[in-house]
Amino acid sequence: MRIGGQPLLYVYECQWDKNHSPCGMHIEGDQANVTDHLARFHGFTGGEGDTTCLWDGCTSKKRTAMKGTSIARHLVTHIGYKIKCTACNVDYAREDACRRSHANARSDCQRMQIAPVHGTGVITLKVSTCEPPAKKRHVADAQTQNSIYRLS
Ligand SMILES: [Zn+2]
Ligand SMILES: [Zn+2]
Ligand SMILES: [Zn+2]
Repeated sequence: MRIGGQPLLYVYECQWDKNHSPCGMHIEGDQANVTDHLARFHGFTGGEGDTTCLWDGCTSKKRTAMKGTSIARHLVTHIGYKIKCTACNVDYAREDACRRSHANARSDCQRMQIAPVHGTGVITLKVSTCEPPAKKRHVADAQTQNSIYRLS
């Protein structure tokens, strides 16, 4: 979607530990960005140990026994970000799940069209107003990604 010809960026305000140490940052809703954000700003590096979900308003029964490896996926459900195939109108939690389902016989859909579905807390930013920091961030990502934050 474009408004006034400018590409938009869809982000969410981080609600991690909002009452104690709110980070107030905007993050993109997909799992890769959430994983990166957790590692970088909340000290998460994955692992199998139990950890507590500190997302504001979390009511999950497993809140205090989250696996470090699955917490990013869990946060994506808080954010409400999903992937939809607009050809067959089916929602998926992640893009790879959509691709997998379409690649095998479970789906009759021949014309997969992947589109993001945004959660209710989505904030739209004009790329032109936030481009310099975003660019810097991506350069930083490229430098650190391979050495430190390879989680998957
Ligand atoms: Zn945060
Ligand atoms: Zn939670
Ligand atoms: Zn489809």
